[in-house]
Amino acid sequence: MNDCLFCKIIAGEIPSAKVYEDDKLLAFKDINPQAPVHILIIPKAHYDSVNALDEASAPIVGDIMLVAKRLAEEFHLGSGYRIITNIGEDGGQTVKHLHFHLLGGVKLSEKMC
Ligand code: AMP
Ligand code: ZN
Repeated sequence: MNDCLFCKIIAGEIPSAKVYEDDKLLAFKDINPQAPVHILIIPKAHYDSVNALDEASAPIVGDIMLVAKRLAEEFHLGSGYRIITNIGEDGGQTVKHLHFHLLGGVKLSEKMC
């Protein structure tokens, strides 16, 4: 966990372009945006991915969805947006701290993969 990039961002050891924060969650702009709006929403508690969630921790995903909805409104994504979480190597996950991508601001590809 000490080596986790996103835990370092949460701790303020690495800077980020923060767009939302509460006691459980942090959201910041992706450093390599794939769309005009590309925000990462992460729990402050470290979970490697969805695979690390259990019944006790899974409600954090609902909290993340509500923040995604709120940010979509704030960033004027009324015409639509996409929420993605990558899991594991084949899923394209490069940072092993649970995170959800909020993408929008353009008509997104119909292709999912
Ligand atoms: P994933 O490939 O799903 O694991 O997503 C990791 C995301 O983190 C990528 O979209 C990266 O561009 C993004 N990323 C990596 N380092 C940083 C950073 N320091 N600040 C913001 N976003 C980052
Ligand atoms: Zn972490």
